[in-house]
Amino acid sequence: MPGRDWVVAKFGGTSVSTRARWETIARITAAHQAQGRRVLLVVSALAGVTDLLKRIAENGSDEAACRMAQDEIAARHRALHAELGLARANALDGWLSRLDQLVDDSRRAACALAWQAEVFALGELMSSTLGAAFLCAQGVQTQWLDARECLLAHPLANQGAWARHLSASVPAAPDAAFAAALAARGDIFITQGFIARNPAGETVLLGRGGSDTSAGCFGAMLKAACVEIWTDVPGMFSANPRIVPDARLLVRLDYEEAQEIATTGAKVLHPRSLGPLRRAGVPLVIRDTHRPALAGTEIRAAAPDAAPCVKAISARKGVTLVSMETVGMWQQVGFLADVFEQFRKHGLSVDLIGSAETNVTVSLDPSENLVNSDVLSALAADLARICRVKVIAPCAAITLVGRGMRALLHRLSGVLAEFGALDVHLISQSSNNLNLTFVIDEGLADDLLPRLHALLIHADALRVEDGAVFGPSWRQLGRDAASAAEPAWWRRERTRLLALASEQSPRYVYSLDAVRTQARALVRSGSPGPVDRWHYALKANPHPAILRTLHEEGFAFECVSLAEVEAVRATLPGLAPERILFTPNFAPRAEYAAALAAGVRVTLDALHPLRHWGELFGGRDVHLRIDLGVGRGHHDKVRTGGAGSKFGVALDDIDAFRALAQACGARIVGLHAHLGSGILEPDHWRSVYVQLASLAEGMDAIESLDVGGGLGVPSRPDEQPLDLAELGASLAEVKRAYPRFALWMEPGRFLVADAGVLLARVTQTKRKGHVQYVGIDAGMNSLIRPALYEAWHGIVNLTRLDEPDAAMVQVVGPICETGDVLGANRRLPECREGDVLLIAQAGAYGAAMASRYNLREPAPEVVL
Ligand code: ADP
Ligand code: ASP
Ligand code: MG
Repeated sequence: MPGRDWVVAKFGGTSVSTRARWETIARITAAHQAQGRRVLLVVSALAGVTDLLKRIAENGSDEAACRMAQDEIAARHRALHAELGLARANALDGWLSRLDQLVDDSRRAACALAWQAEVFALGELMSSTLGAAFLCAQGVQTQWLDARECLLAHPLANQGAWARHLSASVPAAPDAAFAAALAARGDIFITQGFIARNPAGETVLLGRGGSDTSAGCFGAMLKAACVEIWTDVPGMFSANPRIVPDARLLVRLDYEEAQEIATTGAKVLHPRSLGPLRRAGVPLVIRDTHRPALAGTEIRAAAPDAAPCVKAISARKGVTLVSMETVGMWQQVGFLADVFEQFRKHGLSVDLIGSAETNVTVSLDPSENLVNSDVLSALAADLARICRVKVIAPCAAITLVGRGMRALLHRLSGVLAEFGALDVHLISQSSNNLNLTFVIDEGLADDLLPRLHALLIHADALRVEDGAVFGPSWRQLGRDAASAAEPAWWRRERTRLLALASEQSPRYVYSLDAVRTQARALVRSGSPGPVDRWHYALKANPHPAILRTLHEEGFAFECVSLAEVEAVRATLPGLAPERILFTPNFAPRAEYAAALAAGVRVTLDALHPLRHWGELFGGRDVHLRIDLGVGRGHHDKVRTGGAGSKFGVALDDIDAFRALAQACGARIVGLHAHLGSGILEPDHWRSVYVQLASLAEGMDAIESLDVGGGLGVPSRPDEQPLDLAELGASLAEVKRAYPRFALWMEPGRFLVADAGVLLARVTQTKRKGHVQYVGIDAGMNSLIRPALYEAWHGIVNLTRLDEPDAAMVQVVGPICETGDVLGANRRLPECREGDVLLIAQAGAYGAAMASRYNLREPAPEVVL
């Protein structure tokens, strides 16, 4: 049916990484179809996959790095394939063997650009292949389209080879013939973002984040009714909401403003995606795949009466400044031409420019340029012949965006004062009157943005009360979603905590009520609860009072050492030994022997015990810990799956494990996988369960599947808590699909992190250069998480809880290590010697990991 409208819907990395998201995609597509529209889906690679491919593309000579990345890519896609419940043979294997071929390709050694583009392209080729198969299986008849047949890149004048291959440009305009040809083939298509072909027929890329650009091109070519960008935030905000939680949703923007916000750093939309749509008059909306009911941001042509107003503040990091200094030569005819000729020669596109009588400073934007040290030193060498060159990096460019910026200057005195305290390298005001940019050292940006945002609201330059432009804040949306988080227990207990700290400091304080509340919230998630048995992973905090509390709440226990097993038995003498699960890693033989003798359940995660100590396991039940091939978690050091981790039996070794078990007469009664810690996506455990269940299908004696722990606890104010209702619902659903197995879980940190705080007193304060230190009597020997995992713990001055924040400080301990920093770049009220600081979320892996380093005793524990 000609004349039917097209909708182009682009889904980013997180929007295509789980089954739940694909179900949403199927619903969105079906809804458009029901309204008589044709749909072209444009998808990114699974979240993180482009970065893995980059490791291969840029490490031509590092064999081990390539293989590891390759294994992880295969495991990620196989896991999603299993989660989507797709048939075994499918085109995915074809792409994985294409990756094998590319890794063995002779072009690899030189990291040839055309070869790199082919490597990168596989991410989107694989995600779209999985997506097409899933949508068809769901009854949404979808055709797979190779984007390289449709999008043709044109090299630009002066474009360097790197940009021609990896950040190419596609000139896209309405193309009725293309639209008709596609319509003749069908109604629903899925294609890849990020990739195109060049006139030579080679694969090229559209730059990092370029799937948005693909959607923009397709939207213009099809003259679509609308382009939808589905991502992990509900629209474009007045600042990056992950850094500025009070950032407001921008309900409506015109093309020029949105363009400026995207160009100046809002990663949510690639700056090159809007041009073709603006020219073709196609509107664009940005929406949240996780919360599809929210309306998002709508971008279309400007309303004629737009009043001057700041709409957003954005930041670009990784900016390099090149400052060129000379003595009295700027007036010389042709001098600037000579200077810029050098940038042209090295294929570098200049972004901002500031000039003075004897100095010109320009900035290079990393997303538009290959700014590595080779390119920079070649440029500097050439420039050195005509001027004195200084390269300043890394910098951040902070930009205020809004129509009529010059008319707003009188309101910006507070904002300017904030910059006054910093070393500003460059200021630039765009000639289109849409932006004002300040370039500062990169490390200062994250702390500055929330303050600037607040100052702009205060100065009435960002008029958030205008409902036609501004929607709710990120924080508000999060609160709505997470049903108003209670204030932390320690705020209510402030007086008691101050008294405890004056008795002794430093000191860990635990609230058993908080442990109980968290345990109940978890156990009640999803009703009836799909989890048949909860274990507390006591390595997080083995304090006896906590063990007793969780025992009362019905928890069994998961131990990783014989000493932990003994601690549980000593604290809870009446506990049935089979309520203890012993899951050690590389433990000596004697620990297994003792655990078995005590009647404790034992999990094995290697072949060695069965192969060499078979007699221990004869006639026994054992659980098998499997490495599903990938790790998850908030930091490399807490990922416990994948080739880089020492845990678990590899998928390839399961048959050998079963044979050994059979030979020594052991029965495998449970399967277990634990991929890492700090996971906030509620779908994760369901996908583990599905994978374990499919492995267990062929094994008769399996009774339980243990999907591990790793339930994340948000630490920064902007992080969303794990959605327990969704966790419960997704587990209930898989339980229905595989009712034969008992479902076990083993949370640790989740139960106790928020229940503990570390109290410490200020010892000394000091200013060194620009940096202000607040020293406290607790150091990394009491709490090592910040040093070990770069963990972020909230810190407040409990003595001055109601006073306003003052300067930015580094909160440090007394240990002789540069890494003894408990909190970097924090805003606290003015701290004085003797003030009590509270370090939040210290109930897990705090005291449990403490040491006597420097012969300083770690903080002792007290229970309220
Ligand atoms: P996708 O993978 O869906 O393309 P991206 O990670 O590329 O998603 O873009 C979405 C991210 O952009 C958000 O999660 C947010 O962290 C970031 N972001 C930066 N600035 C803004 C802003 N002003 N408004 C919304 N998001 C922003
Ligand atoms: N996968 C590509 C990237 O990560 C393109 C995209 O997701 O937009 O850069
Ligand atoms: Mg993106």
